[in-house]
Amino acid sequence: MKFTPEIYKLPDIPMTPFIDSEEIWNYINNIPSNKEKVIEIIAKSLSKKRLNLEEVAVLINTNDPQLINEIKEGAKTLKNNIYGNRIVLFAPLYIGNKCSNNCTYCGFRTSNNKAVRKTLNENEIIQEVEALEENGQKRLILVYGEHAQYTPEYIAETVKIAYSVKKGNGEIRRVNINAAPMEIEGFRTVKESGIGTFQVFQETYNREAYKTYHLSGKKSDFDYRLTSLDRAQEAGLDDVGIGALFGLYDWRFEVLSLVRHTNHLEACYNVGPHTISFPRIKDASSLNFGDKYFVSDEDFTKLIAILRLAVPYTGMILTAREPEKLRNEIIQYGVSQIDGGTKIELGSYSKSESNKDLDKGQFKINDDRSLSDIIDELLDQDMIPSFCTSCYRRGRTGEHFMEFSVPGFIKRFCSPNAILTLAEYIEDYAKEETAIKGWKAIEKNILKLDDEKIIKSVRDKIEKIKSGQRDLYF
Ligand code: SAM
Ligand code: SF4
Repeated sequence: MKFTPEIYKLPDIPMTPFIDSEEIWNYINNIPSNKEKVIEIIAKSLSKKRLNLEEVAVLINTNDPQLINEIKEGAKTLKNNIYGNRIVLFAPLYIGNKCSNNCTYCGFRTSNNKAVRKTLNENEIIQEVEALEENGQKRLILVYGEHAQYTPEYIAETVKIAYSVKKGNGEIRRVNINAAPMEIEGFRTVKESGIGTFQVFQETYNREAYKTYHLSGKKSDFDYRLTSLDRAQEAGLDDVGIGALFGLYDWRFEVLSLVRHTNHLEACYNVGPHTISFPRIKDASSLNFGDKYFVSDEDFTKLIAILRLAVPYTGMILTAREPEKLRNEIIQYGVSQIDGGTKIELGSYSKSESNKDLDKGQFKINDDRSLSDIIDELLDQDMIPSFCTSCYRRGRTGEHFMEFSVPGFIKRFCSPNAILTLAEYIEDYAKEETAIKGWKAIEKNILKLDDEKIIKSVRDKIEKIKSGQRDLYF
């Protein structure tokens, strides 16, 4: 069945699935790659135009190491042109791991009797958020299993609690959500609590493979999950994140499907995904997982670069599932957001727990550097760590966010805001050594702004931050 945008526009007509497996495999099997095409496609992307499925298939089918290098270099240039050298930092906060689903890859699955189940109460959420604020975090993603207790009202309440916590100069300025799909009304309730992005990962876009991993519970309904972000849009929640869990099925199929999903959202709602995530399966409690679809580091790097070129405007998230060395490398090829100081055992930010007990977390994380170490290393790599939350608070979401591709956006917003949030971090939380590096980086990046009016305004705001004002942004 071919995709017809109008079908999805009408909420009372059942949604037709927009992923056609045969069509996706046709692209993979029948679109060859050659040097001329690859160079042309990279150039198209660098002019900030979206790639179509055929062009993405060409990149996917590129196996010549030299051309793969061109793809990676193209992604690097594009990322710098669109977002500058800033990397946005956030932390995940697991609120509850009760779960009625049976996703075979996840430590929280209902059949895993070894999982230590916990739902944070109000006091515990406050303690966790205080601990995160004491480290300098400003952006959180709250994560939940799928359970009758975690209703939209409950989720909205936990969001409000997170926003209410103020420790010293600390505060949370953006709460994103990763939770089970909802009905339209539920999305509306959660939106009203003031969230940023609502993420739902399809895990695998292949219907047959999906069945084999999702054995029972609501999540076993492939179509309900696939159409979840349509319901979010219907609810007015226009800031959505998509993703696939790499390792469940052929990575080439997932990459094309992520782009297909993007096309669908753009065609129906005039707004693509705010973020794309590409978690790779990691070890989890009582997990015994085959490696038929294992994605090597080389393919993983390549697919990230392809996604960056395919959807130039989207935020791309690389998490602490991946080890430090690989994160440091991949971050260059189009990633715009990473987590820092991550702990995924419930309640572990406020206690100094090991972070290594698989029965207490969802999966194993492989980068347990502190936020402060990550900031140091980003500065060493000539990147600006950013805690910016300006777009969503100024209403630059949905269709407005698409203006990311408008030239000048970085100079007007991303870079100045990254600089200001780094200045705040230095004043409130940085070690002396980081502060010295940080102020040098700020000076260097102010000069790159290249517009006297903006430079003056940034300098004025920095003086205000030094004299105690906070939360200044463009
Ligand atoms: N329970 C909600 C759901 O399934 O939509 C919230 C998401 S879950 C807590 C967060 C994401 O973690 C999942 O969507 C999946 O992609 C990822 N995940 C699950 N098990 C994983 C594993 N073993 N390794 C890496 N990522 C995993
Ligand atoms: Fe539950 Fe989500 Fe884990 Fe599936 S991935 S078992 S729905 S927490």
